[in-house]
Amino acid sequence: MTMTEKILARAAGKARATAGENIWVKADILMTHDVCGPGTIGVFQREFGRQAKVWDRNRVVIIPDHYIFTADSKSNRNVDLLREFSREQGLPYFYDVIDDPDGAWKFDATQGLLKRQYGSQYAGVCHTALPQKGHTRPGEILFGTDSHTCMAGAFNEFATGIGNTDAGFVMGTGKLLLKVPETMHFRLEGKLQPGVMAKDVILQVIGEIGFDGATYRAMQFDGGGVAGLSMDDRMTIANMAIEAGGKNGIFPFDSRTAEFVDGRTRLNGTTAGYEPVEADADQKFCHELVVELDQLEPTVACHPDPGQRKKAKEMSNVKLDRAYIGSCTGGKTSDFVEFARVVRGRRVTIDTFGVSATPEIVHDLQSTRWGGVTIWDILVTAGVQMTENAGCAACLGGPVDTFGRMNTPLKCISATNRNFPGRMGHKESQVFLASPATVAASAIAGRITDPREYFSN
Ligand code: SF4
Repeated sequence: MTMTEKILARAAGKARATAGENIWVKADILMTHDVCGPGTIGVFQREFGRQAKVWDRNRVVIIPDHYIFTADSKSNRNVDLLREFSREQGLPYFYDVIDDPDGAWKFDATQGLLKRQYGSQYAGVCHTALPQKGHTRPGEILFGTDSHTCMAGAFNEFATGIGNTDAGFVMGTGKLLLKVPETMHFRLEGKLQPGVMAKDVILQVIGEIGFDGATYRAMQFDGGGVAGLSMDDRMTIANMAIEAGGKNGIFPFDSRTAEFVDGRTRLNGTTAGYEPVEADADQKFCHELVVELDQLEPTVACHPDPGQRKKAKEMSNVKLDRAYIGSCTGGKTSDFVEFARVVRGRRVTIDTFGVSATPEIVHDLQSTRWGGVTIWDILVTAGVQMTENAGCAACLGGPVDTFGRMNTPLKCISATNRNFPGRMGHKESQVFLASPATVAASAIAGRITDPREYFSN
């Protein structure tokens, strides 16, 4: 069996799981957020009763993160609905925006968009917050009401996005009926070269198979090249499995996985035990591709889909209006570090927005110093508009007052993960997806630029 089949078989209490088979599996964690949470709760209460209790209060994780820093009252109200439900249910893992359990969330637009407005429990973008808060464990099953839930496959678990109806059912029963996906095999070999990042790996893969090339399939990434990838790198790659239509992305378990997971469960007091899976020698795949990491170059996915792959160095004729670094995919500490390496001592020449995925990342950037200067200050000095309000921000457009949203038809290079029409705001805007290093180089040049152009200077 493949790693995905093994996890699903175990969660179904069966010796084997075969691609195409429908099986009932037990959920380990159900995650929801402010956009889908109220709908999920509505389904749960309609089907199980207004007084019903969730199947296991320690396994429901609620993370508001999408439309938070906006004056839109309906968006603010969604956070309050999550708080009320979490209180009624006694949920220990509700990462509220505010500290007052009896309060109401209201974004104060008069304070501007840059200064922190959240309390001490706020966790930021759900997919990045889940591992940081100790909710991702090898061998487990994570369901989330968000398509990029697949990011947690970096931790050797089966993680997938589900709709509100399924999530309402999981909330009540802890189970879900799943068709076991076929598995595609991506063997990563070699080592990434300077200026090339994990984002380039996944853009290369999606370009190869197309934005629907993995539809309802597991994407298994393994091979000798995995050992050289950090957990952030693996998260970036697994995150975008859905950009090829994948049901899930999954990486093998190794000492890096153990170090991260053990550290985070200890820090947060979450469940420490887990059982990783290894693939069998006789695993069967529906597709195989070897990716030579040494051969990869900075890559761009052109508007309007993540499969429109080109090399950055071939796109210098594309002039840009805007650059954006942020999101679950591209707003991690390591992403900002690579971005800062490129812009340090230089200035961006187009509007450039930076949004950390989580408050912890804001803290990292404001406390890590290079030559006495914080990374945050290096970015601000380079002209990047940095907000302390970590979250999804303009990755998915959001209300019109969202930080970094494109309200006019602009051309933007972005470290985010999705570029379908209208994704970051205006429906006639164009989004080019790239690594943080490529976004940084392009922000300096004002046109799409291979970051290696700045490495030899
Ligand atoms: S950062 Fe973007 S991709 Fe990630 S969860 Fe938020 S909206 Fe979705």
